[in-house]
Amino acid sequence: MLAPTLPTDPWLAHEDGWLAPFAVRTTDSGGRRHPEPPHTYRTAFQRDRERIVHSSAFRRMTGKTQVLVASVNDHHRTRLTHTLEVTQVARTVARRLRLNEDLTEAIALAHDIGHPPFGHAGEAALDECLRTFGGFNHNLYGLRRVDELEERYPEFPGLNLTYELREAFVRHAAKLDAPEMAEFVRHRSPPLEAQVVDVVDSLAYDTHDTDDALGLGFITLDDLKEVEFWQRCTELTRRRHPTLSGHAFRTAVVRELLAWQVTDLVEETSRRLADIQPASLADVRAAEQLVGFGADVRRMKRGLEQFLRERVYRHHRVLRMTANGKRILRALFDEYVKSPELLPERHLRRWAGASAVAGPPADPILPGRRLVPHLEVVVGDYLAGMTDRYAQQEYRRLFQPNADL
Ligand code: MG
Repeated sequence: MLAPTLPTDPWLAHEDGWLAPFAVRTTDSGGRRHPEPPHTYRTAFQRDRERIVHSSAFRRMTGKTQVLVASVNDHHRTRLTHTLEVTQVARTVARRLRLNEDLTEAIALAHDIGHPPFGHAGEAALDECLRTFGGFNHNLYGLRRVDELEERYPEFPGLNLTYELREAFVRHAAKLDAPEMAEFVRHRSPPLEAQVVDVVDSLAYDTHDTDDALGLGFITLDDLKEVEFWQRCTELTRRRHPTLSGHAFRTAVVRELLAWQVTDLVEETSRRLADIQPASLADVRAAEQLVGFGADVRRMKRGLEQFLRERVYRHHRVLRMTANGKRILRALFDEYVKSPELLPERHLRRWAGASAVAGPPADPILPGRRLVPHLEVVVGDYLAGMTDRYAQQEYRRLFQPNADL
């Protein structure tokens, strides 16, 4: 029988016994903004992971566009299923390289929670709306979500995640001049766990966007003849399964495409680690990016990505959906800024009264930033949290005379 309270130490001993010397140990963590006592039997990164899964931003990824608006049909990827694909591949890579799997998993689950509705079009629309307020970036919004906007715990605002989780958002944003960067610029590179998620993200979407585009009939197998990576995976599949055809053949090629990239990533990264021989996390942080693909796969991925840009992301049905999404966000933004009383009370409360005081107090953690945000920023945060469907419904409720209120 388990003792009612287990000591934390065996779990940390497990990390010491298993992890590579350059992996992140729980004891290396830069800690939380609001200090908390350690949990009896979960490491700090396990707790991060579970806080993310229980957040409302995580659940809403079910209804958010990856490439296609989430409600188009039930088969293509949404933000959430993309996230789960990234997470499982990232865990495989982390375990193979003896990195901290809990940290990798937590970063992967969190990596897209800052995406607004309607994918990159939604991000572009919000960036335009907020131009004079520093613009909009989904990674910095993700950080704000986990630092402030999630309301789940009485002891602190947000999810109070560890430094390493928060750093991963900011690194991804690559906006060196953002005030949020200040506490993270002391290192040259993020830990390998964050690098793995970053690279796995790209291999996951290159693969599943090709699969979805085929499934939806945006492109045909014939169109892909011009893509070297696809062609080489096709040849491998034909050799392995000479009688396969139709849907079974397509999914076998997609699997080959994924497996090739994952294996190459593990092999190339292992080679670089063997060359440089980092002895600690500090060595990884002082080095250049170490996780990556070999030259062959890099070249073939570039070809595939160019094809996706030209034939899928600019397909007229994708453009029609995203133009519609942009229009919806722009109209909602203008309407709420004009009439803030239409905002739900919780959002209105973040801004209300700001104009009544002479100078709003500065944020104690990020001095230089207003603690009471501008109305436009509050509206932007509200819109960014919406799912595609909620934004569409809200648009109908505000602008259509016969809408169901
Ligand atoms: Mg992603």
